[in-house]
Amino acid sequence: MSPRPEAAPAPPAADRLLDGLAVYLAQSRRVAITTHIRPDGDAMGSALALAHFLNHHGHQAQVLLSSPVPDYLQWMPGAEACRDAEAHRPACEQALAAAELVVCLDFGVLARLEPLEGPVRAALAAGTRSLHLDHHLELEPFATWRLRDVTASSTCELVGRLLDALEPPKAQLSAEVATCLYTGMLTDTGSFRFDSTTPAVHRRVADLIDAGAQPSRIQNLVFSNFSEARTRFLGRCLTDGLRVLPELHTAYITVPMTWQQQHALAPGDTEGIVNFALGIRGINFAVILIEYPDQVKLSFRSIGAFSAQAFAGHFEGGGHYNAAGGRARQPLAEVERRFLDLLPQYAADLAYARL
Ligand code: 5GP
Ligand code: MN
Repeated sequence: MSPRPEAAPAPPAADRLLDGLAVYLAQSRRVAITTHIRPDGDAMGSALALAHFLNHHGHQAQVLLSSPVPDYLQWMPGAEACRDAEAHRPACEQALAAAELVVCLDFGVLARLEPLEGPVRAALAAGTRSLHLDHHLELEPFATWRLRDVTASSTCELVGRLLDALEPPKAQLSAEVATCLYTGMLTDTGSFRFDSTTPAVHRRVADLIDAGAQPSRIQNLVFSNFSEARTRFLGRCLTDGLRVLPELHTAYITVPMTWQQQHALAPGDTEGIVNFALGIRGINFAVILIEYPDQVKLSFRSIGAFSAQAFAGHFEGGGHYNAAGGRARQPLAEVERRFLDLLPQYAADLAYARL
């Protein structure tokens, strides 16, 4: 019998490999900035903040997205200049091939780039330097420079730390950079609610407000700016899609593809809906299963001890301890059945009173 393979060593929770980056950025560089598919506030905020900062400092930085800017983040400064691989794939590939620095933000493994994974890997294989900022639990160690901290509230917080390091003692941020960083810190902390919201987060946010971020304007743009269609779609999800399993402290929402067509959804319109399931008293684990033509996307959220990230491992996924995602390439009904078959083995892990 062959010996059992050693488990891969767990990556460090935090590392800071930035030596030589400031020297590299002392010259003007062509920079391609990437982030995960279906970008959220933290992905968009970190990418746009870094693009503003680098362009202000004489570089040519461009944000290349794997999928379009979500509808609810179109207002962000610089969103109109992003290129996405759905609409402009050749331009994205050319920009990556021509880049002197590829920046990877808000994901741990390159597979999260989906359509841009190949072009980014090609650039890295050709020797292009890379900078990786992230706070997810998974780690693929591909980068020349890395700033990673799984306890960080957001990748935007890490961009803030990076800018502090590049321009000590404390970078004087533009209002655009401050607005973008505030947006990511706001959305990734669930409006400064999650455990990751440390005193240092509040201090950094105060600095962002000093630099020109406008909290109530940004919160209104992010949370009170939905289309009528999206609001009615939310109603449909809660009325017809929600199932509550009190004995398993779990609630989940299924979203068939037909609903998305009927409600003419825009990119990003399903964001946040899973949190309504998690808002039910006694629920520790909430899931939304969204059907697309080629796959079902799952979002997992938990409050407290249950690991959403570990559960996401059943669906090729990962993320953070209490917020993770995954996917399955079967019809919605089959994925739902598989999910329901998995749950009972976690019954004991799910049975706790929230603190
Ligand atoms: P969401 O459920 O909002 O798409 O994602 C929740 C968290 O899990 C985010 O931090 C996101 O980056 C991560 N995530 C979402 N989908 C996947 C996936 O398929 N694989 C991995 N590794 N992480 C994911
Ligand atoms: Mn994030």
